[in-house]
Amino acid sequence: MFPCTGCGLCCQNISTVAELKELDLGNGVCKFFNKIKNNCEVYDTRPDICRVDKMFDIKYIDHFLSKKEFYIENAKVCNKLQTDFKIEHTFKVIIGD
Ligand code: SF4
Ligand code: SF4
Repeated sequence: MFPCTGCGLCCQNISTVAELKELDLGNGVCKFFNKIKNNCEVYDTRPDICRVDKMFDIKYIDHFLSKKEFYIENAKVCNKLQTDFKIEHTFKVIIGD
């Protein structure tokens, strides 16, 4: 499973994600993001696009050498967001062996 650290930044920066357009409050924040708990209010039923492992299985399995390669690309996005928003380095996503 993708080692999401729960920083919550992807859910607050959805303006470029076409699949989530209808959930955008207008400022890039998803309407299902709970700012107090820093998590998703519909986690168990969240869209496929919000599920890294499922997206690999249904869309990207033929685009990457392995799931690990896919994880690495996703982690780059997470860590770039974290750098841009200057949040604690403890949230950094690390893809191990
Ligand atoms: S940006 Fe990455 S680490 Fe942060 S909540 Fe989203 S998937 Fe998890
Ligand atoms: S549906 Fe949930 S997981 Fe997906 S962007 Fe919104 S808050 Fe995040």
